[in-house]
Amino acid sequence: MQSPPNPSPPPGWRVFNDQLMPDQTVGGYLARGQKISGACDQRDCRRRFWIDFDNLIRRGFAPFPVRELKALLLCRRPGGCAMGFKDSREGSGLPLKLLSRFEPVRIRLRCTRCKWEKTLTPDRVATQLKAAGTGSGDTLHVDLLEKLSKPCAKCHQSAWACEVLWPQAVPSWHGKSRSGPPRPDEKPGHDRLGSR
Ligand SMILES: [Zn+2]
Ligand SMILES: [Zn+2]
Repeated sequence: MQSPPNPSPPPGWRVFNDQLMPDQTVGGYLARGQKISGACDQRDCRRRFWIDFDNLIRRGFAPFPVRELKALLLCRRPGGCAMGFKDSREGSGLPLKLLSRFEPVRIRLRCTRCKWEKTLTPDRVATQLKAAGTGSGDTLHVDLLEKLSKPCAKCHQSAWACEVLWPQAVPSWHGKSRSGPPRPDEKPGHDRLGSR
């Protein structure tokens, strides 16, 4: 029997390699409410702007990659362009309490030096942030890294990476008893479906 696919991420987000990624197209930025502003400090340019995604989408630019759009916005002056772009914080991430509504979604923290890693439910991360007084369910997943003040317990370095794991296919064991290796957040003997 075919397993149903897992729920898709909210508009403006994609899953690549079972990880949550921002959709880097014009349509993606508009869908998740992220804005881009730009400024060029070149004396004869001094442009300041906000990309009008609404207008671009009406003209059929929804699938256009924002990276290429940025390249088109550079000024063509001798000596090059000093255009700097800034993606707004608004729309840059998803709140933990929203992620927790998707049953299979997990947050993975890993040490990029020694490869130690830990996988937690979004609710568990929110609970830990609350206990530490540094965040809550409203914390955006992209802000988790800056909240990790502790160095790695194993190698004592602070070189963290953080990913939102979004498994694409529901494992075949879903709804029945399962064989195979335990998920990283499981403890042996625990009710596997109740591991939230
Ligand atoms: Zn310029
Ligand atoms: Zn480490």
